[in-house]
Amino acid sequence: GVIGVALQATVMLNRLRSTSRTLAQQEKSSRHAARHDALSGLPNRAHFADNLAGVLDSLKPDANSQRAVVAYLDIDRFKDVNDTLGHSAGDTLIKQVAQRLQANVREGDFIARYGGDEFAILWLSSDPRAPQILADRIARAFANTMDIGGQSLAVTASIGIAVAPDDGLTCEDVMRHADIALYEAKNAGRNCAIIFSDDMAADVRERRAIELDLQTA
Ligand code: GH3
Ligand code: MG
Repeated sequence: GVIGVALQATVMLNRLRSTSRTLAQQEKSSRHAARHDALSGLPNRAHFADNLAGVLDSLKPDANSQRAVVAYLDIDRFKDVNDTLGHSAGDTLIKQVAQRLQANVREGDFIARYGGDEFAILWLSSDPRAPQILADRIARAFANTMDIGGQSLAVTASIGIAVAPDDGLTCEDVMRHADIALYEAKNAGRNCAIIFSDDMAADVRERRAIELDLQTA
């Protein structure tokens, strides 16, 4: 009768609700997966780029306001860990570096796994010493040995730092300049942080020009 139909309708409605809840949860978790790195749980490169782009849009050009300080770091001689201790030891190291960064870099800073053994950190600050402060915090994350399957390992990283708006107004420019500084840090013998300066970009342009000359010669 009428009660039966009403009951059936309620059951169907409940099923529909639970299905749409499940769908919403699935959508949420796949959105999360698309923006995070499965190994470390950190935001991934795309997420970092989105976040940086948003921050760059909000920056004001006057000298005293907030700057976006971007640190780009790459673990030194990471391949040696993979080669000598195995790939899963390398994975463990990446997870541990992620944890160390989260523990030593302040809450509110945006930390991402940018690529294989690369991480990126974004800090908004109006302190002119911010690049150096960030470099020191990252250094602290590597100060103690890492524990990889019962073995303690001294791990270092090289760091390149660029600042917006000074060193660029787009995500691409800022990251490219941080990458140039990172290259300088590797070249300087690793285990150090280098803050980008304009003469580095000039050096890179010069090197490229020389390479092109050599190719055409
Ligand atoms: P450098 O000091 O110049 O940085 O030397 P490196 O040995 O660290 O070399 P590089 O940064 O160029 O290479 C990183 C290596 O990380 C390359 C790749 O084999 C390895 N790798 C990338 N992703 C993963 C990962 O998810 N797990 C593991 N175990 N290894 C990875
Ligand atoms: Mg490396």
